[in-house]
Amino acid sequence: MKLDPKEIWFVTGSQHLYGDETLRTVADHSTKIARSLNDADELPVRVVYKPLLTDPDAIRNLCIEANSSPACAGLIVWMHTFSPAKMWIGGLTRLAKPVCHLHTQFNRDLPWASIDMDFMNLNQAAHGDREAGHLHTRIGLRRKVVVGHWQDPEVLQRLGAWARVARAWSDLQGAKICRFGDNMREVSVTEGDKVSAEATFGFSVNGYGVGDLAAAVSRVCEPQIDDLCSVYEREYAVQADLKKGGRRHDSLREGARIELGLRDFLDEGGFKGFTTTFEDLHGLRQLPGLAVQRLMADGYGFGAEGDWKTAALVRFMKVVGDGLPGGTSFMEDYTYNLDPAGPQVLGAHMLEVCPTIAKGKPSLEVHPLGIGGKEDPVRLVFDAKPGKALNASLVDLGHRFRLIVSEVKAVEVPPMPKLPVARALWEVLPNFKDGVAAWIYAGGAHHTGYSAAVTTEHLLDFAEIAGIEALVIDAETDLREFRNEMRWNDSTYGRG
Ligand code: MN
Repeated sequence: MKLDPKEIWFVTGSQHLYGDETLRTVADHSTKIARSLNDADELPVRVVYKPLLTDPDAIRNLCIEANSSPACAGLIVWMHTFSPAKMWIGGLTRLAKPVCHLHTQFNRDLPWASIDMDFMNLNQAAHGDREAGHLHTRIGLRRKVVVGHWQDPEVLQRLGAWARVARAWSDLQGAKICRFGDNMREVSVTEGDKVSAEATFGFSVNGYGVGDLAAAVSRVCEPQIDDLCSVYEREYAVQADLKKGGRRHDSLREGARIELGLRDFLDEGGFKGFTTTFEDLHGLRQLPGLAVQRLMADGYGFGAEGDWKTAALVRFMKVVGDGLPGGTSFMEDYTYNLDPAGPQVLGAHMLEVCPTIAKGKPSLEVHPLGIGGKEDPVRLVFDAKPGKALNASLVDLGHRFRLIVSEVKAVEVPPMPKLPVARALWEVLPNFKDGVAAWIYAGGAHHTGYSAAVTTEHLLDFAEIAGIEALVIDAETDLREFRNEMRWNDSTYGRG
């Protein structure tokens, strides 16, 4: 994906009490840690060392500078020494960027034979970071706390997860989601408060007439279509009668025309995601299928039937997972295999599943679609890769947003020669009955962001930054405790 380069600022707190020599050593240690984090593959962003902070004015100025820097996606903060935390109130109460509190220590092992009070006074994050943590809690600072030595692989992995989320959060601020038409009529879960969403998550959602998209599609030139059809033949196993000279080649050309027009429309508007609805296609000859699949593969968020929350979530998850193995797609829990030996969910959609989750080369086919009353749409057909994955759903409960994460185990998809859509097959954790019951009690949608790249840790970091409720359904979930957690959350957030 083409993402704007982002930085994480490495911020170290101290005070003047220790004298210049100690502060020089602190700065030297911090520089080494920042450089090491910058070089770590786990963090997909630049890590920038910021000069030591030792007084309230410098702290406030740094936070204001962070807020106004488009490149700054967040701050990693650490107290190498004791930094009296009232100095941080003025800065942190103004800070609008994500924070990760790295509770680490420069030295890993204590030098037992040589340790003296100078060493003790230099290496005192153990109590300096407790003073910081107290103030963070006191002012309600949302943050991630990562504990351990800065070279510990698990610490790097956790910092990296947060840095990915901070980068994706930055991408979401000011992001525009384009909604062609409105919601699928009478559907509840895809509705929601777009004003609250913008205030909470930073992305905006606005509607456009599908006629404007149809006009962009009609402006596409034939040579562009020729070129794109050649790309299709290179990248996919194209059904024989769709190929050039084939009986149904015109269907493929129409799919290419829709892709080119949709891409132009989204590029011109600077959109990062979009929704369609099969109930509002006036002027388009096919429901966009292949076009949506290929745009998702390029990093656009997508939600069907007007589902703008899932479109934004899919975009966010794609940025989080960028460069990691495993893809991310719009998904729908479609139908079940209720074999008592191992119940499974077959996930699919009418057309719009992203080929980044495909196992092997997708097949490009055309089939009738019994819904929408349009011409037969072209689409990519494939099986999703087996392995660990998750489904995430963002729902609007009317007075708050809830993020629900369900960890799943994707399995090999058996041959289904008559099913003309892309599909994934998975087992739900902790088991089918409890996992699905938890999802339904939580009010999770039938649409999700499905990912083999994004983890529960990423999504919990996201919920913390956004300040929203998050519920996790995984191997540890106990349905009775899960339902109690929701009751407790209702008393925290109110029932509206
Ligand atoms: Mn749907």
